[in-house]
Amino acid sequence: MAMCNDCKALTGLGVSGRKKPPHAALVPVGELREIAVKGMRADEQDYRCTECGQQWIHETGNAGQGWIAVRRSD
Ligand SMILES: [Zn+2]
Repeated sequence: MAMCNDCKALTGLGVSGRKKPPHAALVPVGELREIAVKGMRADEQDYRCTECGQQWIHETGNAGQGWIAVRRSD
């Protein structure tokens, strides 16, 4: 299944995506992973889209990469 439009809107944001909140169809999966290396934080949270099934990692810390689409095997 292709990405829904809300998920497409999260692609290509780069680090500016750190501050972009999850869209309405994204539900958190598991717990926040507090990742910190040399004082820089990544802080990852997994999400899954209930609309299209796309999975995401959202890194919100000052060393985070913003929204990262997880490659799917299906
Ligand atoms: Zn989606």
